[in-house]
Amino acid sequence: MGHVSDIDMTVKQLRELVAGPVLGPDDQGFEAEAVTFNTTVNARPALVVGALDRQDVAASVRFAAEQGLAVAVTSTGHGAVPGGMDGALVINTSRIREISVDPQARTVRIGAGNRWGEVVEACAPFGLMPPAGAAPGVGVVGYLLGGGLSPLGRVFGFAADHVRALEIVTADGTHRRVDAEQHEDLFWALRGGGGGLGVVTAVEVGLFPVSSLYGGTVFYPGEHAADLLRAFRDWNDGLPDAACGSLALQRLPDVPQLPEPLRGRFVVALRFAYPGDPAEGARLLAPMRATAEAIIDTVGELPLTAFGAIHNDPTEPMPVWDRGDLLPALPDGAIDALLSAAGPQAADAPTLVELRRLGGALARAPRQENALGVRDAAYTLFVVGAPGAPSGPGLFATMAPWTLGAGLPTMRGEAPVATTPEVAARLAKIKATWDPAGLLR
Ligand SMILES: Cc1cc2nc3c(=O)[nH]c(=O)nc-3n(C[C@H](O)[C@H](O)[C@H](O)COP(=O)(O)OP(=O)(O)OC[C@H]3O[C@@H](n4cnc5c(N)ncnc54)[C@H](O)[C@@H]3O)c2cc1C
Repeated sequence: MGHVSDIDMTVKQLRELVAGPVLGPDDQGFEAEAVTFNTTVNARPALVVGALDRQDVAASVRFAAEQGLAVAVTSTGHGAVPGGMDGALVINTSRIREISVDPQARTVRIGAGNRWGEVVEACAPFGLMPPAGAAPGVGVVGYLLGGGLSPLGRVFGFAADHVRALEIVTADGTHRRVDAEQHEDLFWALRGGGGGLGVVTAVEVGLFPVSSLYGGTVFYPGEHAADLLRAFRDWNDGLPDAACGSLALQRLPDVPQLPEPLRGRFVVALRFAYPGDPAEGARLLAPMRATAEAIIDTVGELPLTAFGAIHNDPTEPMPVWDRGDLLPALPDGAIDALLSAAGPQAADAPTLVELRRLGGALARAPRQENALGVRDAAYTLFVVGAPGAPSGPGLFATMAPWTLGAGLPTMRGEAPVATTPEVAARLAKIKATWDPAGLLR
């Protein structure tokens, strides 16, 4: 492989085997099939298959094995990493779509191509909520494979803890159902252990009854960062497991999409979510509301389908540098270090520095053990900055005495995955069993 003429031939052969589109680098629409949310990741697949169903996936995997091509998977591109798709036969699963809710069993079956926003829309009429992440545009499968941290994580636990079954095409090209009874090793590994064990075609996930959601963001002037960080830490320590908070130091762009008072400003954004009585939610939030005067306070009763308004994550692809980490605790020294790197006096700071409180159900072992190696940290730290800017790596160097040096699989950017030697060894063994030739990236 590797010559353009070979690729043309390969594309032609695969078109005979699958129903979905097969595109080579010279074909129109090729780039759109491997689009990445972080636009600095310039994906260069050998060829791309837009799989329509599990038969297309199985045929593509078998074909790649015969041709000696590596297989990579993409759906929304939110989790694309540099080099992840380069030179590979990329299977785009975004066309494999299916959402069926079972309100009695409180489960939902979801195709590999669906995004969380669509799943929440389908479940909300039943008063049920899946363990979705902050952004409606994130894909279901990539998020679940990496554990998945919801803005309601302290209530729900990690999303992977609620996966009941997966359907997957393994490296031998066979479609299998994986659950607590069948292929237990894969069931353990696919919930939090990341990708690379097969191409998931569908998942079944447990749902939570949520009668009412109180949530949103309180934006404060950045000058109050020191008071707010300390108040946030103390407030979190007394917060019940049913409430969730995140605090972000944000350098906002001067763009018309933002409300006028926020444009071009350094702000502290407190994100709050409470799936219960709004009056109780307001009572729990009161100490943070009293810490400083807000610029804008959007926290209120939200329809479940408006869950994206808790964090207000970006919805359009952009060039970013990002990295995540975990903190066992947030002592004064860690707060001072964070302020020196990203507080009001910092000369050059990353665009977003976010602390999310963990604990609650996130810290409890799931009913069925899974591959999420570290679940007892107190906070995740996630930082987004401009590509190449020294402030992001500089912040992690400053924070090193207080961090683990590794992040949650879905929120680590360029950092290693936080795990244990036992989990890493068990995952490596399962990979060697199911993909001995290392076909799947
Ligand atoms: C704006 C934004 C907000 C986010 N918010 C959160 C959050 O609140 N909580 C959280 O935990 N994470 C969050 N994330 C991270 C997100 O969960 C990961 O980036 C995740 O990998 C995205 O999955 P995807 O399928 O959308 O992305 P893709 O880039 O399409 O896939 C990412 C990877 O997942 C694997 N994969 C995807 N589909 C399959 C499949 N069918 N079979 C096998 N492997 C597959 C592949 O390895 C692929 O490279 C956020 C990311 C962004 C950009």
